[in-house]
Amino acid sequence: MSDPIGQVRAAFQAEASAQTLDPPALELERLERLRVRFLGKKGDINALMRQLGKLPKDQRRDFGQAVNALKTEVNDALLTLKAAANTRAEAAALDAGWLDPTLPTHATDARVDGLPAMGHQHPITSMLDTVIDHFTGLGFEVASGPEIEDTWHNFDALNIPKDHPARDMWDTFYTTQGEVPRTHTSSVQIRTMQTQTPPIRVISPGKCFRNETIDATHLAAFNQCEGLYIDKGVSLGHLKATLEGWIQRLFGPDLQIRFRPAFYPFVEPGLDLDAQCFLCHGDGHNDDGVACPVCRTKGWLEVIPCGMVHPNVLRNCGIDPDIWSGFAFGMGFDRLVMLQHGIDDLRRLYNGRLDLVRQL
Ligand SMILES: [Zn+2]
Repeated sequence: MSDPIGQVRAAFQAEASAQTLDPPALELERLERLRVRFLGKKGDINALMRQLGKLPKDQRRDFGQAVNALKTEVNDALLTLKAAANTRAEAAALDAGWLDPTLPTHATDARVDGLPAMGHQHPITSMLDTVIDHFTGLGFEVASGPEIEDTWHNFDALNIPKDHPARDMWDTFYTTQGEVPRTHTSSVQIRTMQTQTPPIRVISPGKCFRNETIDATHLAAFNQCEGLYIDKGVSLGHLKATLEGWIQRLFGPDLQIRFRPAFYPFVEPGLDLDAQCFLCHGDGHNDDGVACPVCRTKGWLEVIPCGMVHPNVLRNCGIDPDIWSGFAFGMGFDRLVMLQHGIDDLRRLYNGRLDLVRQL
C-alpha cells in the first residue's frame, strides 16, 4: 500500500542526516534549499495537502493530521540544524579573530530610555530631501554640475561680463588657475540650457562658496538650491504661484511673505521673496525695544531671490528669447532650515555639536 507521507518523511530524513557542509554559510544555503523543497508554497508537504480532497471522506481527517505532524517535524528539524550552523559560523569568526562580541556598540554613549540612540538625518539633509520631493512632484528634474567652475559659466553666461560692477556683488574665491569655486548653482542652469532644448524644468541643489565675513546669517561655504523653468509663455504669475506653493509647504499658510523688486543681472525683472522674521514676527524689535538680532530691525528676511530669465542669458545658451521665456530662483536652504526651526545663528548647524541637532 502506498504511503505518500512516509515517503516524504524518509526523503527529508535522508537529506537532514546528510553530511553538513563547510563553511557554515554553505550549510545555511543547503538548509534554505531544503526548506523551500519541503515547506515552500510548491513544496512536497503542500503537495500532500492537495491530495486531501481526492481521498474518501472518512480518511481525510487522519491524513490531514498526519501531514500537519510531518510539517511540524520538518520545521523543528530545520530550525535545530540552522541554529547549529549559526553557532559554527560564530565560532569560526571568533577563531579568525575578526569578531569581538565584547566590544561596546557604537551607541553606548548615547542612550535614550536605556536603548541605543538611533540617530536621524541632519536638518540640512532633511531640507534637501524636502526640496527635491516638492519640486520633482511639480515635474522638475534634479541637475548637478561641477563645484569648481570656469568664469564663463559662473559669470559671463549669466549676463555678468568681466569688469561689470555686478561681479562685485559676489565675494568670489579664485584658484591660482583663475577658476572659481562656484558662487551659486546658477552655473548648473547654464550647463542645463546648453545641453537641453526647452521646455526645461530643473532644480540644482549643491554647495556654493563665497569670501564672506562669517556671521549669524553668512558662511563661506553654504548650501543652495536654484530652480529654472523655461517654456513658451512663462510669466511672473507662474513664478509667484510656484514659490508661494513651496513656502506654504514649508511653513504653512501663516508665515507672511512678500515680493519686492530687486536687481540681479541674470533676471529681468528681478524680485526678492521675503519672509516675515520668525523671531520678532515682523516688529523688528523684541518686547523691550531691543533690536532683533536676526532681521536687524527690518522685520523681514530675504529668502528667495528670483525673476524672469534675462534674454541675454537665454541667448548665451542658444535659446531664442522671442520664442521662449522662463523664470529662475535661488535659495540658501541653510537659511530655510533656520526659518523652519527658529534657529538664530546659522553657525549652529555646522559646528559639529549634537545638542542642537538632537532637538530637531
Ligand atoms: Zn526679526
